[in-house]
Amino acid sequence: MADKKHKLKLFFTLASVAAISIFFTAQLLRRRLRSKHRRSLTPCYLHSHPKPQLRFKRVLADNSYSPFKHFNRQSDSDLEKSPSSTHPYEAEITALVETPLLQFSRIAMGDFDMKMGDSYIWVESESQLSQLAQVLGEQKAFAVDTEQHSLHSFLGFSALIQISTEKEDYLVDTIALHDSMGILRPVFADPNICKVFHGADGDIMWLQRDFHIYVVNLFDTAKACEVLSKPHKSLAYLLETYCGVSKNKLLQREDWRQRPLSDEMVEYARTDAHYLLYIANYLYAELKQQDCEYSSCTDDKFNFVLEASRRSNMICLQLYAKEIEGFPGESAAFSILSRQLNGQGAAPMSGETKFQDLVRRLCAWRDLMARVHDESTRYILSDYAIVALSEKSPTTQADIYGTIIEADLNIDSSNLSSSLPSPSPLLCSHWIDVHQLIQDKLGNLDNFFPVVIQSCLGPNGSCPLSAFNYALLMNCSLKLESKLVSKQNGFRNPKHISKKASRQLFIQKFSCKSPVYHNCRIYANDGRLLCYCDRRKLEWYLRRDLAKLVDDDPPAIMLLFEPKGRPEDEDNDFYIQSKKNICVGCGEGNHYLRYRVIPSCYRVHFPEHLKSHRSHDIVLLCVDCHEVAHAAAEKYKRRIAGEFGIPLYVRRVVDSNQAPMISGSSESTNFEDSGVSPLQLRTAAKALLRHGPEMPSNRRDELTQIVMRYYGGREISKEDLERALVVGMSPHERRRLEKKKGLSSKQSTTIPPVKEQEINDATRILSATPDPSKVNSSDASDFTADVSHSTEVDTLKEASGTKDDLDFCMVTDTDHTDDPSTCSDSGVTTACNDMNSHGSQISETKIVSAVDTDNFESSTPNEIADSSCMKYEGNTSLKLNKRLSLLGHGPHGKQVVDHILNEFGEEGINQFCQRWRQVFVEAVNPRFLPGGWDVMHSGRREFGEFSVYNPAKKGADGN
Ligand code: AMP
Ligand code: ZN
Ligand code: MN
Repeated sequence: MADKKHKLKLFFTLASVAAISIFFTAQLLRRRLRSKHRRSLTPCYLHSHPKPQLRFKRVLADNSYSPFKHFNRQSDSDLEKSPSSTHPYEAEITALVETPLLQFSRIAMGDFDMKMGDSYIWVESESQLSQLAQVLGEQKAFAVDTEQHSLHSFLGFSALIQISTEKEDYLVDTIALHDSMGILRPVFADPNICKVFHGADGDIMWLQRDFHIYVVNLFDTAKACEVLSKPHKSLAYLLETYCGVSKNKLLQREDWRQRPLSDEMVEYARTDAHYLLYIANYLYAELKQQDCEYSSCTDDKFNFVLEASRRSNMICLQLYAKEIEGFPGESAAFSILSRQLNGQGAAPMSGETKFQDLVRRLCAWRDLMARVHDESTRYILSDYAIVALSEKSPTTQADIYGTIIEADLNIDSSNLSSSLPSPSPLLCSHWIDVHQLIQDKLGNLDNFFPVVIQSCLGPNGSCPLSAFNYALLMNCSLKLESKLVSKQNGFRNPKHISKKASRQLFIQKFSCKSPVYHNCRIYANDGRLLCYCDRRKLEWYLRRDLAKLVDDDPPAIMLLFEPKGRPEDEDNDFYIQSKKNICVGCGEGNHYLRYRVIPSCYRVHFPEHLKSHRSHDIVLLCVDCHEVAHAAAEKYKRRIAGEFGIPLYVRRVVDSNQAPMISGSSESTNFEDSGVSPLQLRTAAKALLRHGPEMPSNRRDELTQIVMRYYGGREISKEDLERALVVGMSPHERRRLEKKKGLSSKQSTTIPPVKEQEINDATRILSATPDPSKVNSSDASDFTADVSHSTEVDTLKEASGTKDDLDFCMVTDTDHTDDPSTCSDSGVTTACNDMNSHGSQISETKIVSAVDTDNFESSTPNEIADSSCMKYEGNTSLKLNKRLSLLGHGPHGKQVVDHILNEFGEEGINQFCQRWRQVFVEAVNPRFLPGGWDVMHSGRREFGEFSVYNPAKKGADGN
């Protein structure tokens, strides 16, 4: 008997030593693997070559393979009938084709100040743009030209718009104002204002592509030249002929992204628009003159003015579309191959298929890389280089570079086209792809696409994510993800499998089940973007007829009432950002959890109206960053406890017969140590009850100490242990546990009665938050010696009673010896309420089915958010009440918040929030916070008509 006991003891000791060493080895391995992985990646050149368009917040034509969506003006009911591929202003333009509205004659030839002076207006702020819109709204006609950038962009973007009225030249910085250009949409679409362009075909498309600006009522001076059968129809010709001005065409190819523009470029840009009104005036007069001459001498019905106007407006009816190919890079491959065939005559038959295959793959890769990095394909790799690589199949890095350089040298001598770097920086940072492609290691096209996208943009990807490539990543096959996961789990060591698997399982269970941010948009009735939000919120408005749907994928609504506040009113563009579903700390996109920057033990006690900015203070974090943030928050809570003299844990001396044994003096200095968390207590009690006798004695002593600390240091009995099992449980949970016990065992082990007072007090004893992020360390748990993984799960099952609850549970643990927390059913619930625990993610996800309630409630600075709360508060408050009794540091939180409110009022709360944001920022060093996120963010706001926070509304409660 004694021998057996001894053996068991030995076994457990060995087992625990093994488990601990496995744990540390695994940790080490994980770290090493991670850093090795990072080192092996060549940093993408984009990190050192930032591009201005990466700051654009909204990109209408992104680099994904999905078709371009046009602006939708239709009302709700018409939406289904009109896909976004119809022209939103078709009716207006068609009407103009029949009845032109040209009013140039107003400009008296003599009056017009043709000479271009020194003054012009550089428009770079939203307010300047609004002023410009107002000025333009008062014109009969204005002239327009745009300058594009296409070398370092996949689809190209407008870098400058020149607009000239009779009085002034405006240069609009469309890089700085990219996200605001919609302000000019109404004047461009106004049929009563004539827009004069020269050769508008490109500009019309570009304005649609970048800004959803549609031109209605165009007079294209090039079309007028055509109709008048001029010998030339270039702008240079017109400038020479009508204005005696010559222009340096070379400047057209300048890099129009540069700021400030050189004087030469400014002059060039102004010239393109400045004289257009004057020229249009002349041409219009000529057209009219022709009409008069012809109508007097012939029967010809040809009307010159009408024809010029018709041809102009026909341009406006065109719709921008992205080029859609059968497979990526197909058309480039086709032209390369046909050029090759024509030039070379008979290619060697044997090598032909491999050559062609390589050309196709390289074109496909180049296309994908151009999309990922928002570059032109020509910048990445020239056609000549593709041919050379396909012919030679170089195998080393040096050979690949050499082949490209040589091919590009040849073009340079024959064709002065480029001074582009060869090989391009992009190729240099991604040459390994080319290497693998030539070696045929990337598999077929369908396979290598998602692999390349993931390695560039996926978790730990090498390249920056932006509005241009985000959809590309999102649409990347999901099948791949599961493949990667199974690959990651493919460790040889079975211990590692279980460790990996448990981490994976943790991530599966606790990370958000679907993208947290749906990025649905809400527009004001004048077309201004107010905020991004989730689907539920949109539906809320639509159901109440407070908004109409204006786009469906992703959905967008336009409010039918005037919102109280605008994003700019708040001076914070946080709310008009689309938010990425990635960890704000490190950018991890595969899994993430919500993290509450302001711990809910405090937040839950804030006055209602201060809770309404929740979306700002809930961020997404990956498991690793979550762990860091959580640890920092716990530490800071202890500091708060000391600072305010409000302990985190309250020691409870339960036995009413016994005098309290609180060591008064030490407590004030060491609040966090002054109590036992219910979780800790329960865990210890459970272990002692079940495995006490066969436990190693030192372990038994440790656990006994924990329980004794709860009972004020006195000796404890079996009944004390049983009573300790239910500490921290709500009455409901206690009943459930009792019922379960009654059912599961014949012997009536009813839990010793606990006085009502004791239950209440029990809830005041605060739990340490189990940190599920430490799931990896489960092998090193305090239970290693006495409770196997599966036994623990059994225990959980028994305690929780329902399978659903079990879903929340992970055996979690911690390496702090003073905090041996595991998940038991209410332990998890406790955790759920302690704001930062992973458990809360799950319960929320479950209850509101992955819709981000918090985000919903507060994603806007105006009453949109408030009104939405009506629906959700009900939901949440139910949850809250149920959980409130179990709040981890609830009483501490309440006392702290009450104290702040009493002493410093609401401003105190605001500052308190700022402190927590600071703690978060210092702990995590977040690199992926949405723009506009700010430590100083103030929760202050006005409440609108529909707001539940609106005091007037509360009082009246009429509608
Ligand atoms: P423009 O209509 O002359 O003002 O040209 C507008 C934009 O079109 C310029 O900023 C260039 O980006 C582009 N572009 C026009 N012509 C050429 C050309 N021959 N080669 C390259 N880019 C051009
Ligand atoms: Zn890259
Ligand atoms: Mn121009």
